[in-house]
Amino acid sequence: MTFPASAEPFADVQRVLAVFAHPDDVDFGAGATVARWVAEGLEVAYVIITRGDAGGFDNTPREEMPALREAEQRAAAAVLGAKQVTFLDGYHDGVLTPSIELRHDITREIRRFRPDRILTSSPLRRWERIAGPSHPDHLAAGEATTCAIYPDSRNPFTFPDLAAEGLEPWIVREVWYQAGPAPDHHVDVTDYVDAKLSALAAHVTQTSHQDVRPFLIDRMTQAAAAAGAPEGRLVESFSVFRTA
Ligand SMILES: [Zn+2]
Repeated sequence: MTFPASAEPFADVQRVLAVFAHPDDVDFGAGATVARWVAEGLEVAYVIITRGDAGGFDNTPREEMPALREAEQRAAAAVLGAKQVTFLDGYHDGVLTPSIELRHDITREIRRFRPDRILTSSPLRRWERIAGPSHPDHLAAGEATTCAIYPDSRNPFTFPDLAAEGLEPWIVREVWYQAGPAPDHHVDVTDYVDAKLSALAAHVTQTSHQDVRPFLIDRMTQAAAAAGAPEGRLVESFSVFRTA
């Protein structure tokens, strides 16, 4: 199973909401693109579903991990210029499912922020790379977010408690999927790679045990080759769809 060809992104997008399962997901997959969007004047906010309590490679006591990872994600967002970071409560790293509760909580954040575009994880698995991008939490985040885009956030009769909170229905016009099969919308991020690396350095519990630069440069170089970009350019790639 794969995606159809990407649509041309809307030219008048102003607000972007990134919805991801774990602290660091957006930075690894789209950090340079977020930096470029901010430089181009877009307002970017994040919703992070868990606090990454099953992550990390060091001897940090597990009970300290959620607060550490929340702080790391807030620092990384500040590096890239993402203005708001919201953490959902009640969800745990490693056991995420695309539940009605998760759809409800993402719908609340969509109706609050009212984004034109959502960036999230691919709900489609990459069978050639089972480990990493196709972590089940990522698939669950992508599926729940897609359901929140359509129909939940635009249907006034879904989740009446949100209407009672004063949160009106909202139509998200465009969705970008990260780390899915055969991404074909390519963003030249050559000028924003340093910002991405700085954001990733803020995720100390995740990245301090290794030099992530060679791996990331290699991945963005391969994406540039797939995009047919000139030698020396670096690219992040996505699948982009309109939701109407
Ligand atoms: Zn992740």
